[in-house]
Amino acid sequence: MNPPANVDALLQPRPPSPLREVRDDRFERHGVRLLLKRDDLVHPELPGNKWRKLAPNLRAAVDAGHDGLVTFGGAYSNHLRATAAAGRLLGLRTVGIVRGDELAGRPLNDSLARCAADGMRLHFVSRSEYRRKAEPRELARLVDSAGAGGAYVVPEGGSNALALRGCAELGRELRGAADVVAVACGTGGTLAGLAAGLAPGQRALGVPVLAGGFLAAEIRSLQAAAFGGPAGAWTLAEDYHHGGYARVPDELEAFAADFGSRHGLPVERIYVAKLLWALTELTASGAFPRGTALAAVVTGRP
Ligand SMILES: *Cc1c(COP(=O)(O)O)cnc(C)c1O
Repeated sequence: MNPPANVDALLQPRPPSPLREVRDDRFERHGVRLLLKRDDLVHPELPGNKWRKLAPNLRAAVDAGHDGLVTFGGAYSNHLRATAAAGRLLGLRTVGIVRGDELAGRPLNDSLARCAADGMRLHFVSRSEYRRKAEPRELARLVDSAGAGGAYVVPEGGSNALALRGCAELGRELRGAADVVAVACGTGGTLAGLAAGLAPGQRALGVPVLAGGFLAAEIRSLQAAAFGGPAGAWTLAEDYHHGGYARVPDELEAFAADFGSRHGLPVERIYVAKLLWALTELTASGAFPRGTALAAVVTGRP
């Protein structure tokens, strides 16, 4: 089985990810300093917030003697991919419950193919069945029917109380370094934890990549579960989802390619591109007072 050395190498605290200021006239002309928090470099196989959120859960799974992990996601889920990689590194079996039973008969897309190559068993379910996992009894039934009984259950997107505490460490790394720390949001777990780790006077700014406007309530309930109540200052900029999850219109694609070549940054398109676009637009519209130091968290890579 898995040598314990692997567990420690994967799960022990890591040095802070690099923080680097970039020169960009779209920010400088408004007196805003832009810093990139390269959390995509925090771990070679579990980039960014996926390592922050998974590491405390993997530690809990290993300590409790589970032999496997089961989790949930859509066809393009970075979280499924990270969980599959973690399972391979730790010698834990992994089962991924995937939204959309119409995918079952088709060739796997690149993201799911990588999960499978890392040994993850994929279990496709209908959208209505997938939604029912919100109820504890339905969740147990779903996990059993996926053949994952006894495995440690990581929720969709990996956002639970342990995950938020992992992300609070990201906030602590940024104390004193910026006035506003911005991050793209899926489930909002990373923002919820990040805000809790910042110092008083700093603010977290979330850019949701899904349409819908449900995220603020979700973040409050995640913080209540992890910290017993509201923690830290945060706001959302809701108008930058570009049509919804995984939608990358041509102008966003062009923006991301240009930003990447200006700053030598591989720009992940589903989350990071929307974050950087939003910050560029907000800065142009005068949303940040002159003298603001703005840190963008680069949560992943392409
Ligand atoms: C998963 C992911 C996010 C979203 O994180 P949440 O905690 O679900 O809000 C952001 N950026 C990247 C690159 C991701 O893979």
